[in-house]
Amino acid sequence: MRITVLAGGVGGSRFVRGVREECARRWPDGEGGTTASVTVVVNTGDDIWLSGVRLMPDFDSLLYSLAGVNDTERGWGRAGETERVSAELREWGVGWPWFTLGDLDLGTHLARTSWLRDGLEVSDVCERLQRRWPLGVRLIPATDTEVDTHVRVADPEASGDGSGSGEREMHFQEWWTRYRATLPALGFRQQNLADARPAPGVVEAIADADLVLVAPSNPVVSIGTILAVPGMREALAATPAPVVGVSPIIGGKVVRGMADACLPAIGVETSAEAVGRHYGFRRDGGLLDAWLVDETDATAATALSTEGLLAASAPLWMHDLDRSAALAGAAIDLGTAARSA
Ligand code: GDP
Ligand code: CA
Repeated sequence: MRITVLAGGVGGSRFVRGVREECARRWPDGEGGTTASVTVVVNTGDDIWLSGVRLMPDFDSLLYSLAGVNDTERGWGRAGETERVSAELREWGVGWPWFTLGDLDLGTHLARTSWLRDGLEVSDVCERLQRRWPLGVRLIPATDTEVDTHVRVADPEASGDGSGSGEREMHFQEWWTRYRATLPALGFRQQNLADARPAPGVVEAIADADLVLVAPSNPVVSIGTILAVPGMREALAATPAPVVGVSPIIGGKVVRGMADACLPAIGVETSAEAVGRHYGFRRDGGLLDAWLVDETDATAATALSTEGLLAASAPLWMHDLDRSAALAGAAIDLGTAARSA
């Protein structure tokens, strides 16, 4: 069973840990001749050059979480982290004072940047980083090109004619961490998209999969950025594998995080049904063969089903590993249903 997952950081990590666990339970290594392999196509839109180093927040969230070295209380970064270097950088006036880089985390960024300076591609660097721990899954960045997301916001002071109708653009990380996504976003734009291609192995992982899962990740800045890489949608449209999406929206609210600040900017309502319709169904030229929503959104599944679309409901809260694994199991089962539909 080859499963390929499209994922962002926090929602992505919880989901992928569930997929890994569920696969280990369903297909214990080699038993009955079936094994499972999981490949994760990771969002790179949050990546940024800061303080002289390259950060890849979503990749690192997945790496730390799957390796079991993550800080489970904070929900991001390394466990047992210290911030001595960040304090020094602040004294030097380097970097962003509102953006703390942990010392252990900086070790990762330095290693990554060192290998990039040696001329390695981003995907090669990611491959090296995950050799350190037995993750049980393979992580591939969506693209080797730097497609950092920029956010367009209203800025009355930026208008040259004094009309107060100006706009300005900032890196997604500044909008997200400095302004906590409270400045209304007018739009999101990924850099260098025209030159971007899926990283080596991505198209193959989608084409050769038995099942493609879209994690309950931010539909705009995580999944949206992965899909925006030229060639990605074509690969997904062409795969013989069913594509099953899991809703990041439960009961009209985002779960953990500030994704509700992103959906309005692209004109999508914050609801499980709207996000499913936004991804669209392959039958109509969209992404999905099936859409999984929370139990409390069962009416959304019914509404889609009456149109002949495959949708189901299951508990989508990933409170612990057991519940994440059960959710992954429901998504795998929905894939089986899609295959026989
Ligand atoms: P980020 O890159 O750290 O923002 O993380 P992702 O893009 O992977 O995921 C963020 C999304 O995960 C948010 O929009 C949340 O709604 C969703 N999310 C977080 N926890 C859960 C959960 O337990 N269940 C579901 N269904 N979605 C979740
Ligand atoms: Ca992210």
